[in-house]
Amino acid sequence: MLLDHLATVTDQLRSSLAELDPERLSGPDAARLLAAFAEVERLASAGKLLAARRVESSNVWRRSGHRSAAAHIAEATGTGIGPAISALETARHLGSLPATDEAVRQGLLSETQVKEIAGAAILQPDAEQSLVDAAGQQPLSVLKLRCKRVRAAGQDPASSYEAIRKGRYLRNWVEDSGAVRFDARLTPDEGARLLASVTAEAARLGGEARRAGLDESAKALAADALVGLASGRSLALSARGDRGGDPGSTRQPRDPVSEGTGDGPTSVIHVRVDHAALLRGHVEGDELCEIPGIGPIPVDVARRLAVDSILNVLVTDGVDVTTVARASRSIPVALRRALIERDPECVVPGCDTRDRLEIDHIRTFADGGETSLANLARLCHWHHYLKTYHGHLLERGDATDAGGDPGSRWRWIAPADPPVVPRHIRRSG
Ligand SMILES: [Zn+2]
Repeated sequence: MLLDHLATVTDQLRSSLAELDPERLSGPDAARLLAAFAEVERLASAGKLLAARRVESSNVWRRSGHRSAAAHIAEATGTGIGPAISALETARHLGSLPATDEAVRQGLLSETQVKEIAGAAILQPDAEQSLVDAAGQQPLSVLKLRCKRVRAAGQDPASSYEAIRKGRYLRNWVEDSGAVRFDARLTPDEGARLLASVTAEAARLGGEARRAGLDESAKALAADALVGLASGRSLALSARGDRGGDPGSTRQPRDPVSEGTGDGPTSVIHVRVDHAALLRGHVEGDELCEIPGIGPIPVDVARRLAVDSILNVLVTDGVDVTTVARASRSIPVALRRALIERDPECVVPGCDTRDRLEIDHIRTFADGGETSLANLARLCHWHHYLKTYHGHLLERGDATDAGGDPGSRWRWIAPADPPVVPRHIRRSG
């Protein structure tokens, strides 16, 4: 039976691992081994999900003296009760999601992917197949965004927004080491507002740190920025730096898309909303109303944000940015704005860097590459460097829809010989 078969496979795996000396593997062999174990892991988590469902329905957990099926699963798998509850929920959904169930049994989906897809497809079964397909082709960040859109489309945006608003919190605790930790839950717009301010302030602090010759991580700078902003320290500094010539004037926020005009902090939130939806007051069909990189928001929240001077609403069908092209290397503001919203993070699959992204001409301007949305992409400093100097290539798998989902359909092709990387260029993040 299956259990005997599994026991044989497990024994074989165990003895292979006992003999494995990773240091003796070539790089490509190590990469193949990693991929092979990832597949084994996906198959194993598929088996766990299917068995978990039956552990619950068979009530075996009662007989084993557990308080709940989740408690039984948590103990059996060595995880916490939270992950066990979430796995059970996914397992229950699988029963009514045939395409997902099939992909799970084929070992095509990781635990995180199944959870995302099942949670969304259970609300919108029509979207199931496209999400399963997307899992095989797109990075997890894009899959999560698509699932978020699907979930949002199945809910009343105003009531789910209100539920988040009612459940908002900020809490803190102290680690044994003495470090103070925080956890917050905010509405998408308030969260985006906070993140935009922290990011802008962290960029300013990063500039100061670089000038002082300090090497601080983006995360550390973000922590400094949060403390500075909350305590009013940074505001005082930036107000001093920004007021400049005309103390009587209302301070206008600077748009990061027209970058290079100064070094003060700027915090602008982008909202992507279809013009028709903005007028109507709610989205219909394929229309979007969302904060890129965060997720959907109700149209009336977008309307409210639009009157706030620090927000930048991109009305998607107001200007057809996909047709903007230029015979010059410089990038027009409409195009920059469209890129910021299309590529919230570095487009290289697997890279989720969001800080200090650089705009790359996929086909270089010198080679006749045009300055158009289709030929531009945002890359992190590291990937831009590899592409510019080490022969890495960025390609679109499918060039028919240049303005489509962020991060989708990109292929990153490494050169045959790995680059020798100078020490001063490091991955940030
Ligand atoms: Zn990158």
